[in-house]
This record gives sequence, C-alpha cells and structure tokens, in this order.
Amino acid sequence: MIDLRSDTVTQPTLEMRDAMVSAEVGDDVYGEDPTVNKLEKTAAEIIGKEETLFMPSGTMGNQVALLAHTERGDEVILDAESHIIYYEVGAPAMLAGIQLRPVSGLLGRNATDILRQAYRPTDIHFPNSRLLCLENTFNRGGGTVMTSAEMKDVYELAHEYGLSVHLDGARIFNASTAARCDVKEFTQYCDSVMFSLSKGLGAPVGSMLAGSKKFIEKARKYRKALGGGMRQAGILAAAGLEALNMVDRLAEDHANAMRLAEGLAQINGLDVELHRVQTNIVLVDVSSTDMNASELVNEMKKRGVSAVTFGPQLVRFVTHKDVDGQDIEQAIKVAKLIVENI
Ligand SMILES: *Cc1c(COP(=O)(O)O)cnc(C)c1O
Repeated sequence: MIDLRSDTVTQPTLEMRDAMVSAEVGDDVYGEDPTVNKLEKTAAEIIGKEETLFMPSGTMGNQVALLAHTERGDEVILDAESHIIYYEVGAPAMLAGIQLRPVSGLLGRNATDILRQAYRPTDIHFPNSRLLCLENTFNRGGGTVMTSAEMKDVYELAHEYGLSVHLDGARIFNASTAARCDVKEFTQYCDSVMFSLSKGLGAPVGSMLAGSKKFIEKARKYRKALGGGMRQAGILAAAGLEALNMVDRLAEDHANAMRLAEGLAQINGLDVELHRVQTNIVLVDVSSTDMNASELVNEMKKRGVSAVTFGPQLVRFVTHKDVDGQDIEQAIKVAKLIVENI
C-alpha cells in the first residue's frame, strides 16, 4: 500500500529502534529519566525556548498549553479551520472550560486585520480574551506556511492586546524547511509552541511542548493531571532524539508533494491550487469529476493508494519518508486511471 493518508504513518527508523533498545531510563515523573531530560534539553535549544516538556501526543501538548495559558471562561481566538477546534474532540470545552472564538482567515495573509476585528476589549459582557492560537504549517490550509514576518506582526498585535500566543507547530519544521531558515525565525514569535516528533520526523510517539520555565512548570502539572506523566519514558524519548536528526530530509517530502500536485493537476477534473502546495500536503478538489471525495479515496485504495477525505469534495495526500518518487508516479497513474476512465 502506498500510504499517503498522513505523515503519522511513518515507521521508526533502525537508528530509532537501536536507540530505544539501549536507552538509559529512570522514572520521569520524578524527573529522573536521563534520556527524557536529554531530549527536553536538546529540543529546547533547537526550538529556542527556555524549557520543553515531552508529551505523549500533539493533542495533549495543545490542550495542556490551553490549560496553562487560561482560566475557565476565558476566550481563545483561533482560525475556524485550525486543528485545535477541528480535530481535538472538543477538548478545550471539556478540559479547560474555555470559549473558543473561531475566525476565518486568521492563518492567511491578513492575520492582523482579522485579529483586530476579532479582539474584544474589557467589558462586563465579554469574556476575557486571553490567548491567540496560530498553526504553522496550516494543516487544513493544505500545509501552507505563515511567514515569520506575518507571525511577527500578529504576535506583536496580540501582545499589544495582552494576549499570549500559542503556536500549534505540529509541522513547524516543514515550515522552516520550506522557508530555508532556522526554526527559531518562527518560534521567536510565540510564547509557547507544540511540535510533533511523530509526524514527518518519524518517531513512533511523542510531541514537545516548549515555553518559558514558568510556563513549563505549570504545564508539567497539567500533563500529570491528564494522565500524561510517563515513567521510563526514555524508551520513547530515545526515538525522539533521533527524530530531531530527521529535519534535513523534509525537503525531499516537499519535492515529492510538488511532483504529486503537478501530476494530479494535469488529470482532467482534478483541481489543485499549486500555489498552496508549499510543504508535504496536497489538497485535491474533485468537484469537476462525477465522483465525490470518498468515492475517489475508495477507488484509489482498491488500487493500492491510500489518502483521506478532507471534506465532501476534497482529498488530502501527505508525503513522508516512507514514500519515494516511484510511489508518487504510481499514485498519479492510479488517480488518472480512475478519474479519466469514468
Ligand atoms: C497532528 C496534529 C496535531 C495533533 O497531534 P497528535 O499527535 O495526532 O495528537 C495538532 N496540530 C496539528 C496541526 C496536527 O497536524
């Protein structure tokens, strides 16, 4: 199966498996796991924050960040299509008891205008606006990159309003790879950031939450409360340390995504916004075919290519280290066969 559903399907490398076998471990709830401690220190240096915390998942990383930044009843401003509102099970309501304020276009070119319109000052009727959440790369946007200049502008405006900024950076290294810059160019414009080890970087499990020492102290307690205090977690952190070495190869995934996008765009009936293909995600609109998204996904699956629906007429393909150029050509061939023969 050529699995283009997500970069989460990546298998851990031999180096990761070896590192896991020989990892030195201890009880991380007591702060005694040397491999977790090494991962948290290394990740902090790379991401440019005082401290980081190893998380079982990106979802827990984001939810702990929301808990640590807010009080019950606070308002959090985010994009209506952001992962936190779309794919995290309504957890902000369940856990932090906060009000999400979804706005459209926040992760586009006019972020500051959108924030200006969405922000509400202190008033007896209004919730307290506390936090702005960004997402880079923007998953439902098609893996698009918010530039560091755009992040800077919206970050500064948020601070003017007294809002903290959390970055859902599950794929922030895809953003820095696309922009050919150090990841700190982006992370300097947020107060906290979550990034995934388990996506394009290939680790079996894990994400990092990063921020100030004080923020991480709070976050550590919330992680424990949610059941995320892991014991000999160095077994997993060892793979995470190897994952941090996988950043340089993300460019390959981006090249494969572009080739896939161009190939699919040439098929009669499939529409791809090529300018939105900036990293490892390709969104394909099937409205001009006589199939809907799930029909295309099902037909492709029968012929050995997996993707996911992203809406009634939208299909998402994600490239990663376990698919190569040949797989991409095969995926294009299969799509062409299905779409043009119907
Ligand atoms: C995958 C993803 C997450 C959540 O990560 P999990 O480890 O799957 O919980 C959060 N935000 C974005 C943008 C993602 O793509």
